[in-house]
Amino acid sequence: MPLPLVYHPDYVTPLPPGHRFPMAKFGLLRDHLIQTQVAEPQQFQQPNIPPQQWLELVHSPRYIQAYCGGTLEPAAQRRIGLPWSPALVRRTCCAVGGTVLTAQLALEWGLACNTAGGTHHAFPDYGSGFCIFNDCAIAARLLQHQGRVQRVLMVDLDVHQGDGTAWIFRDDPSVFTFSMHCDTNFPLRKQTSDLDVPLAVGLEDEGYLQTLDRHLPDLLRQVKPDLVFYNAGVDPHGGDRLGKLALTDTGLWRRDMQVLTTCVRGGYPVACVIGGGYCDDLPALIYRHSLLHRAASEVYRHSKL
Ligand SMILES: [Zn+2]
Repeated sequence: MPLPLVYHPDYVTPLPPGHRFPMAKFGLLRDHLIQTQVAEPQQFQQPNIPPQQWLELVHSPRYIQAYCGGTLEPAAQRRIGLPWSPALVRRTCCAVGGTVLTAQLALEWGLACNTAGGTHHAFPDYGSGFCIFNDCAIAARLLQHQGRVQRVLMVDLDVHQGDGTAWIFRDDPSVFTFSMHCDTNFPLRKQTSDLDVPLAVGLEDEGYLQTLDRHLPDLLRQVKPDLVFYNAGVDPHGGDRLGKLALTDTGLWRRDMQVLTTCVRGGYPVACVIGGGYCDDLPALIYRHSLLHRAASEVYRHSKL
């Protein structure tokens, strides 16, 4: 069994011309992984649309209904930053289903990767920063609800703080939230994670990787999670439009290898989501996102999971 991957054709939704969110990247990422022989087409599993009860494990019924029905107030819609359409609703729900499936596969096989997900700025009653429903939070709660896991660790290395996730689990000792992010970046008002590691603007590979190494191994020993969610956002890259840090492709690759080997060697299953990445050079952006799947394939092969 090769590394389990998750993709749905509806991950890609056309946005109006001129919108700068790189929505095409999800489909291009899958194509790139196949074309460069990182993955075979049959490795990709397709998620189902989740029932509303799953979304309600994190989000209020009122918000879910307003978003899905297209009746959210204009200010709340603007805060999300993506133009509403029935296709985007479907896409959003598919991505949640995808992260749930990724988490289930990770429990079964030790490691699995979505080709979307990581919408960590979504709060129970509202969305923000291109995030509508909090996929990792929903998947964590669902698996807890089903009795498949007890303790969960969120490792959020997207360059922006995982504020929605931090808030959702602020009073929940069963889910430990760890966020390493650029201090002076969105969101302006940070929430309190169980462990926040703010980073200075312009931080480069070595400083970043050393900081990560100072925290992650101890954290795993301390939390002993039944499942790790890894948000591998590529927006810490120096070429990212919204990032403010200065990592290279090699730095992102080493980061992903560091996270995955540390977790897998310790016997902790990891469900990976791709998180943020914003760059007008689409091939460069796709390659950055593919580093996660490349690293995961390598770790999976060598650890004989
Ligand atoms: Zn981000």
